[in-house]
Amino acid sequence: MGAILIIVGIIVFIISVATGLTTGSFYGFFIWTSVGATITTLLFSMFQIMRNQEKILHSFAQSGEILRNNHIINKQCQNCKYEYGLLLNFCPNCGYRDGRK
Ligand SMILES: [Zn+2]
Repeated sequence: MGAILIIVGIIVFIISVATGLTTGSFYGFFIWTSVGATITTLLFSMFQIMRNQEKILHSFAQSGEILRNNHIINKQCQNCKYEYGLLLNFCPNCGYRDGRK
């Protein structure tokens, strides 16, 4: 999915350079090329951000697994059977309050 951003970025840059060439002036070429370069840079950084988010989400998922495996998350909601942390006194899924306070 992220590869699309790279491809679009390269296409945008090529189009802007080509459009700049058709203007026939150095000024027009310069403007179009810099606009294209800016858009391409934005798309490339979006790609980087997306990749980082995937990494972060992956590590979140991993830490969730670690918590589960170590039975840190081991309280179950009496109402909807959702498993949640011991530190909470209500179910984050349905809002059901734990009887023992
Ligand atoms: Zn619940």
